[in-house]
Amino acid sequence: MSGIYIHIPFCKQACHYCDFHFSTSMKKKDELIDALCKELLLRKEEIAGDIETIYFGGGTPSLLTSEELQQIFETIFANFSVVKDPEITLEANPDDLSEEKLKILAASSVNRLSIGVQSFFEADLKMMNRAHNQQEALESIETAKNYFDNISIDLIYGIPQMSNERWLQNLNIALELNVPHISSYALTVEPKTALKKLIEKGKISPVDEDAAKEHYELMIEVLETAGFENYEFSNFGKPGYFSRNNTAYWFGKPYLGIGPSAHSFDGNNRKWNINNNILYIKAIAKGELPAEVEELSTTDKYNEHVMTRLRTKWGISIPEVEEKFGETYKTYLLKEAQHFLDDGLLDLNDDKLSISKRGKFLSDGIAADLFFINL
Ligand code: SF4
Repeated sequence: MSGIYIHIPFCKQACHYCDFHFSTSMKKKDELIDALCKELLLRKEEIAGDIETIYFGGGTPSLLTSEELQQIFETIFANFSVVKDPEITLEANPDDLSEEKLKILAASSVNRLSIGVQSFFEADLKMMNRAHNQQEALESIETAKNYFDNISIDLIYGIPQMSNERWLQNLNIALELNVPHISSYALTVEPKTALKKLIEKGKISPVDEDAAKEHYELMIEVLETAGFENYEFSNFGKPGYFSRNNTAYWFGKPYLGIGPSAHSFDGNNRKWNINNNILYIKAIAKGELPAEVEELSTTDKYNEHVMTRLRTKWGISIPEVEEKFGETYKTYLLKEAQHFLDDGLLDLNDDKLSISKRGKFLSDGIAADLFFINL
């Protein structure tokens, strides 16, 4: 089983913290959609197996018109073998989700919405320069529920000066809205973002790691009590609503990434497209793929496996590590894991190494310590 990821590189305005690839000019939108479809054709032999998930990310895929969405779906369904019940997710921003837009999306093949709410509070939304307001955040979800059952919302924690109370209110609003899936990320300050500059100029307080950790731990408590499972570090789902797209990614399934800046993986190689809309359009028009490729070594694959699996509730299966990477990696993993097991930050049960409750917030750092380094 494989997946298709489609990057829609347009946004109405730039959120202060964002370092994804997007343009706020829509001038090249038509040409870019044509190029996406052409890239799908160019690369249709690249992916083996039936397509189980299709994911529209960005950027802001909810800026696609009905015709543009139709054009992309027609290209996919005419050229790829898609399973009978694919998961087809579209990332949407609340300000785009009018009743009319939701009708269009529901009439298309999209069957899962991922809504970029980030916060239900006006002050947070303004600070992050989001294009939507509090009312749009609430209304978009209420209206979306009339058209979609499978809805995820994104929330950001660790926002400067966000108190635990305000974070709890955000979570409680999400629970009242009764969505079956929540993805939540700590606000991170990436280089070259407006957020970084605003913090450097003293206009916004720096991000506080300890506050973020408290928010994260509160979130686990509140959401687990409400029946969500924290099936991956940043993802919480009610039974039956775990993201098939994300789960496939963590399990190393191949996917085709279409569009500027999109990444692909075929089981051995990672490929990433150029992150420039104009250069992307020009190259695709000539029938060329503007991408760089990196072949993964066994060590790269082992390190990625450790990093992604440790973030999930499924953990790292020791027999699987031995089967995929060999005895040396298995022995190394168990040796390096020992002091985290002694400290109660990792658990080893039924031949599965997983992060303990206490180690959860530290999972990326722990994974890095388990990496194999080729000297
Ligand atoms: S809408 Fe999403 S992709 Fe666009 S600027 Fe904001 S965070 Fe970035």
